[in-house]
Amino acid sequence: MARYIAAVCRLCRRSGEKLMLKGSKCVTKCTLDKKPKPPGPPSKRRRRISDRGEQLREKQKVRYSYGVLERQFRRFFAEAERQSGITGENLLALLERRLDNVVYRLGFADSRAQARQLVQHGHIRLNGRKTDIPSCLVKEDDVIHWREASTRTEYYKQLLGSIESKSIAVWLSLDKEKLVGRVLSLPTLDDTEAKFEVAVVVEYYSR
Ligand code: SF4
Repeated sequence: MARYIAAVCRLCRRSGEKLMLKGSKCVTKCTLDKKPKPPGPPSKRRRRISDRGEQLREKQKVRYSYGVLERQFRRFFAEAERQSGITGENLLALLERRLDNVVYRLGFADSRAQARQLVQHGHIRLNGRKTDIPSCLVKEDDVIHWREASTRTEYYKQLLGSIESKSIAVWLSLDKEKLVGRVLSLPTLDDTEAKFEVAVVVEYYSR
């Protein structure tokens, strides 16, 4: 499966915003503080960014934050358009429901990239079944827990010790002793961590 493998800090520099793609490392040592300019050779001219450019930038911000490649992002957008309601809100709700995001939002991982790795390596079970597809969407009442063998790893033991200090998304619940999560309700726009201009993303794809 294709994925972005270059330095993720470049994505923040391109967006001109801290997207917190490296978890707690972003709080202690952020590259954007040292290198606030976009990557690549410096431009001699100061260019005004067009409306289309703004739309593209906002769309990329959402995409980078959830770690989704363009093709899959378009598929999510098409699904959001098919659903009733506001397309932008549907899109973010769909992205929030991705299994890798849920693992991250339960506090099992420091970043979505790390959560994706946990899922891909088969450490996570969804309703008791092996699920190693990060883009799998959770539903209400779904149960997310650890594979039995993974509960004997050093990572799991350390997580048990630190989970108390982590904040859990309001649409999820977590048994902090067994590290078993449950989907209480489907997420809404207000439940998303970062605030995006979703209407601008919709405008981007509406041309
Ligand atoms: Fe972005 Fe984090 Fe890198 Fe800062 S440290 S530029 S917030 S990924």
